[in-house]
Amino acid sequence: MREYQVSVAGLLRGSGQQQAFEIVSALEGLYVTSSKVDADQPVAVDGEVEAAGEGLLVSVRVRTRFHGECVRCLEPVSGDLEVEARELFREGETTEETYGFNGEVVDLSELIHDQVVMTLPAVPLCRPECLGLCQRCGKNLNLGPCGCDLERGDPRWAGLDQPGS
Ligand SMILES: [Zn+2]
Ligand SMILES: [Zn+2]
Repeated sequence: MREYQVSVAGLLRGSGQQQAFEIVSALEGLYVTSSKVDADQPVAVDGEVEAAGEGLLVSVRVRTRFHGECVRCLEPVSGDLEVEARELFREGETTEETYGFNGEVVDLSELIHDQVVMTLPAVPLCRPECLGLCQRCGKNLNLGPCGCDLERGDPRWAGLDQPGS
C-alpha cells in the first residue's frame, strides 16, 4: 500500500508550482457487492500535485479494469474503469472530511481507493438488454427461450380463457 506515494519535497520548499507523477501498482480492497478490481490488477494513476494556499491540490486520473458478475444472468462481466478527481490534501492525518499528508510525501492510496469504489458498477450487466435467468428452470435466457411460460400462461390453454365463450 506504500506504492502510491508522491514526494512533494520540492513543492514544499517552493521550487516549482507543480509536481507530475505517474505510478502503476495495485491496491487491495477495491470492491463493491457485485464488482471488484482484483488485488493483482494493475491500477495506473497519473496526474499532478500543485501547491495551493491551504495545502496541496492533487489532480489524478485512475485507470484499471474491473471484473464482476452480471446481476441478471450471473455471467462474468469485465470492463475498463477510468475516473478523474481533484482533491485538496491538508497537512495532517486523513479524516472523513479531508485527505491529509505528512512530511514531504503525499499518499494517494486512500484517494484512489475512494474514487475506484465510487466508480465500480453497483449493478453490473453483461449487456443492457440482458434477459437474465428463467425464474423457474434457471436457464440463461440470452441463449434462447427455455420453454417455460411464466407470465403469459400456457398458450395451449389460452383459448379456454376467452371471455364469453
Ligand atoms: Zn447478463
Ligand atoms: Zn424456464
